Amino acid sequence: LKAHTNVAAEKVVSYTGTELHTKGWQQEAALRMIMNNLHPDVAEHPDRLVVYGGIGKAARNWEAFDAIVAVLKRLENDETLLVQSGKPVAVFRTHLDAPRVLIANSNLVPAYADWETFHELDRRGLMMYGQMTAGSWIYIGSQGIVQGTYETFAELARQHFGGSLKGTITLTAGLGGMGGAQPLAVTMAGGVCIAIEVDESRIDKRIRTRYLDTKTASADEAIRLAEEAKRNGKALSIGLLGNASDLLPDLLARGFVPDVLTDQTSAHDPLNGYVPAGMTVEEALALRVSDPELAVEKAKASMACHVRAMLVMKDKGAVTFDYGNNIRQVAKDEGVGRAFDFPGFVPAYIRPQFCEGRGPFRWVALSGDPEDILKTDEVILREFSDNAHLCNWIRMAREKIEFQGLPSRICWFGYGERARFGKIINGMVASGELKAPIVIGRDHLDSGSVASPNRETEAMKDGSDVVSDWPILNALINAVGGATWVSVHHGGGVGMGYSQHAGMVIVADGSKEAEVRLERVLTTDPGMGIVRHADAGYELAIRTARDKGVDIPMLEK
Ligand code: NAD
Repeated sequence: LKAHTNVAAEKVVSYTGTELHTKGWQQEAALRMIMNNLHPDVAEHPDRLVVYGGIGKAARNWEAFDAIVAVLKRLENDETLLVQSGKPVAVFRTHLDAPRVLIANSNLVPAYADWETFHELDRRGLMMYGQMTAGSWIYIGSQGIVQGTYETFAELARQHFGGSLKGTITLTAGLGGMGGAQPLAVTMAGGVCIAIEVDESRIDKRIRTRYLDTKTASADEAIRLAEEAKRNGKALSIGLLGNASDLLPDLLARGFVPDVLTDQTSAHDPLNGYVPAGMTVEEALALRVSDPELAVEKAKASMACHVRAMLVMKDKGAVTFDYGNNIRQVAKDEGVGRAFDFPGFVPAYIRPQFCEGRGPFRWVALSGDPEDILKTDEVILREFSDNAHLCNWIRMAREKIEFQGLPSRICWFGYGERARFGKIINGMVASGELKAPIVIGRDHLDSGSVASPNRETEAMKDGSDVVSDWPILNALINAVGGATWVSVHHGGGVGMGYSQHAGMVIVADGSKEAEVRLERVLTTDPGMGIVRHADAGYELAIRTARDKGVDIPMLEK
């Protein structure tokens, strides 16, 4: 690790402004976004090329990173670069409307799709873990997940607490790239949050970026601060330094039960993501190198303890849910029979949004000028003024969310809205109202782009949880539609063997050609969400398909 210190500082360049370093804005967008993924304010461990989510990387190694950058700089407007698990492997002549980059990350033949096989291939330099937006170059820091997290807590508040988290305490763990959004989302929903985190530098990063209010290393102090804020109906977030596997039983022993309980440690990755009970980060890092098998064994046993304590808190009244890190599966494999007694967040709070093709849509100002994003905010407040929930979100985001790296915004747009917004943005680039093109993309965690039976497709109405044809069709249709880059990944947020998913990114460069591509891709992409859920029999998706004229051949008339 030492040898790599400061490599990122040498190699990662934050390109902004209107001058091109490539042969076109599509290539320039890919170049600026891989750099942005590794920007020190954005990535969790840029010197190791790790962007977020355990070991989710932007490129396989620094040699591959250099080669990707070199190819993007020479890539013609009618060529396509192919990237295999973070390594550039081919450039082919295609055509102007084709994607400039096609990416496949961490895919293994199903019978071999486990961590052992992956780690062996990773060690031999043949693979990397792409997570979701790490290896597909559209990660924008914790701001990229914060609305999804807010939507989850807001829906939970509607279902359990009359619409607000005011006067409630949420207990969670993990303040990494994604988990770091939790304290801000809870306080936005009016509540108090205690977030346990074993790595103090992560706590400090969240305080620095205004996602977290305060910190303590004392459980008593955390409880005292939280209960006082709860009594006064104040929103407050507290980072509690320590190991969740030790602290949950400890909090229980002190008689503390939260109102809401979840977890976002990187439990999906037992080797690199979860620090075993009783260990500091440094001790865990050392054990991972000296005895990886023992590290995995200890992490899994600790996760089982963690989930057992969650179940006790649930039995004592905490509204408990899994936040997409597969911790229930690990606990179940470790013999915790009731591990799946609490639901995943998608079936509990998010699925109706997916039925309407709604999901975490995002856009980034390639100019690097925050003014460009503020202008797009104005457009939403003006053009989508009938959507009060959305406008409220945009106002709140402007006030509370710090930009990280290139200025960007996230909001949950659905079918129809995405294409309309894309056209408006392209027009603003064409007219010069925005200083440079805008990149439009989304998380892979979206309505029609994932097969993940413990997360996005948990408990599907027709039992099709494990069917993974859908993300593949999503990637194919977005590629033929002319997305600027398209990716197909395996593993993502729940780990090897548990998900397949696809991403897409498209550039609004103000050209007529881009307008046509945007219309196509921003229709097919959320359209796949409606199709997938209508096919599974969700009434809301079927109604949405009929209302919006989505052509589904075998949908009953
Ligand atoms: P990350 O690896 O950047 O952060 C994980 C954090 O957990 C780290 O800061 C680590 O120090 C901390 N941690 C590990 N073990 C701990 C322990 N025993 N006690 C306390 N803290 C501990 O990952 P991330 O990007 O924040 O993602 C977290 C998890 O959430 C992943 O499994 C990811 O796949 C999942 N995820 C969920 C969603 C969602 O919307 N629900 C979205 C993305 C990711």
